Amino acid sequence: MIKSISSFDIKNKRVLIRADMNAPLKNGLVEDNFRIKASLPTIKYCINNGAKIILMSHLGRPKGVVNEKMSLMPVGEILADLLEMPIKFSHDCVSEDAHDVTLGLKSGEIHLLENLRFSNDEIKNDKDFSFALAKHGDIFINDAFGTAHRAHASNVGIAKHFTHKGIGFLLEKELECFNSLVRKPKKPFVVVLGGAKIDTKLALIDRFLNIADKIMIGGGMAFTLMKAQGKNIGNSICDDSLLQKAEHILEKSKNANKLILPSDFVCNHSLNDKSEPVEFDNKKIDKDFMGLDIGLQTIKRFNDILSNAKTILWNGPMGVFEDKRYENGTMAIAKHIADLTEKGIISIVGGGDSASALRKYDMREKITHMSTGGGASLELLSGNPLPATYALEL
Ligand code: AMP
Repeated sequence: MIKSISSFDIKNKRVLIRADMNAPLKNGLVEDNFRIKASLPTIKYCINNGAKIILMSHLGRPKGVVNEKMSLMPVGEILADLLEMPIKFSHDCVSEDAHDVTLGLKSGEIHLLENLRFSNDEIKNDKDFSFALAKHGDIFINDAFGTAHRAHASNVGIAKHFTHKGIGFLLEKELECFNSLVRKPKKPFVVVLGGAKIDTKLALIDRFLNIADKIMIGGGMAFTLMKAQGKNIGNSICDDSLLQKAEHILEKSKNANKLILPSDFVCNHSLNDKSEPVEFDNKKIDKDFMGLDIGLQTIKRFNDILSNAKTILWNGPMGVFEDKRYENGTMAIAKHIADLTEKGIISIVGGGDSASALRKYDMREKITHMSTGGGASLELLSGNPLPATYALEL
């Protein structure tokens, strides 16, 4: 059993929250405050219930080195603005000074610790580091879904130092959303997968062949499946080491007729080629070309199938949407999912690049559940336990 924050008496207690404040920064400023905002319900609950709040998070990948460009200070400023109150900040997570600031907190005050990953001990799940972090709190609350699939000091190692531990409202909402999606999706349930890396998503396809009504694959990952089908994929990206697994999935899906692959592509010689893109159908992409977006025919087919869905899960872009020439597929699918959601269907979007795409096209608010964790949601949906929630089991 995992406890929710709402089951603790937190008045005057030091509540140590592992939040996910991994907000993208540009020129030292927060570019997107989505994850910070998603952390607010738990923080506000603590303020309103008289707790002393200590927040810890990572930001980016500083690789164990103090790097001012990845400081959580700008995040603290945004947080202070959103909450309309001052926030105490420590330039270190486990120094004597940082612990003194925590000990000096009054009810309702917040102390934000500097980027956990300025020390490699965080990702090494170092036991002394977890112990030192644990000294900040009487109660430990994990609310960071985005890192729940990783076993780090601040979410796994730390847990054994607490008898009072549980999850915050964001983590609770994410778990509930993805678990109920697997248990009882409103049918027809359509899954759209894309992106470049197929390794993390093959297990998901395999599992969803039993749960979903249709699984549509776009993006670079489609080419490994197409090559396994014996199609000519030209110079498109492909993970040859996974061809056998891909064949197994194609075989499994044969009778169910659930797996839908693109029928045409927008291509070019390379990602950096400045020449006009060329369209090919899926029978034969010229050997010097690579597929960089799904074509118009595929967009129409995918959108027609989406129109019949009651629940849609989307993870991964349909092409290299960062380049305007190859964003059409991702933009069209995103827009259609947003429109269908306004008409009442349930849409769930995994984090990462699909989240960036929705933000780029200003459609994020229209989605039913926009997850804060791409990798964590894939693990959960693939049926794998999340180390961070496992560590909180009582
Ligand atoms: P992932 O992390 O696996 O979700 O992959 C996201 C990345 O996939 C994005 O940065 C896209 O630019 C990239 N991507 C999508 N489609 C393709 C493609 N056809 N070829 C190469 N990269 C792609």
